[in-house]
Amino acid sequence: MTVGVLALQGSFNEHIAALRRLGVQSVEIRKADQLLSVSSLIIPGGESTTMAKLAEYHNLFPALRDFVKTGKPVWGTCAGLIFLADRAVGQKEGGQELVGGLDCTVHRNFFGSQIQSFEADILVPQLTSKEGGPDTYRGVFIRAPAVLDVGPDVEVLADYPVPSNKVLYSSSTVQIQEEDALPETKVIVAVKQGNLLATAFHPELTADTRWHSYFIKMTNEIEQEASSTSSSTIVS
Ligand code: GLN
Repeated sequence: MTVGVLALQGSFNEHIAALRRLGVQSVEIRKADQLLSVSSLIIPGGESTTMAKLAEYHNLFPALRDFVKTGKPVWGTCAGLIFLADRAVGQKEGGQELVGGLDCTVHRNFFGSQIQSFEADILVPQLTSKEGGPDTYRGVFIRAPAVLDVGPDVEVLADYPVPSNKVLYSSSTVQIQEEDALPETKVIVAVKQGNLLATAFHPELTADTRWHSYFIKMTNEIEQEASSTSSSTIVS
């Protein structure tokens, strides 16, 4: 198995280091043809408009969209989540190009600017069901996006409570209400849809490799499915 890591901008080195800690081989992706030989792909956190400009410059969008359609696993962290979303709001004027594939609307800077970055423990049943393991995951949120709505095929893996005075009234803006003594509401911060995984936070910036292990498990499973389908095609 070789995991490709989109290496245009952002925290690609940190993803590569996390994969190395798990003994998984990876390759930096900067050109379309490099995608042909990888088992799965990680789109790292960073700055999504800059990453999109570089991807456009290198004519990578068509190849990235084709890769998503192959059914091979793709994991987007933070800016990578924005890349994978079908719909994004809270963008700079004119927006930016997206890879898409993930049936959700993402708010690009839902949690605010750099100084509003934070760490928080989140509940992720899929990661924490192992006996004796910790029951939460420490998420690192940096200028973090959040998922505002998801389509029927999207599985929500984690959400995070926010004060409900930060309520969304329209798909283009987060508005703050005057009254602040309102109960909490939750926004989605990790999702899965078939071969696509996306997290609003940065597992590559922690020493905890559970999300990388989860993605490698997805890669193994999808690789095995693909090889059993192709061998049954040969037999029939
Ligand atoms: N909100 C950022 C963006 O639009 C993403 C931040 C991140 O990846 N840490 O690109």
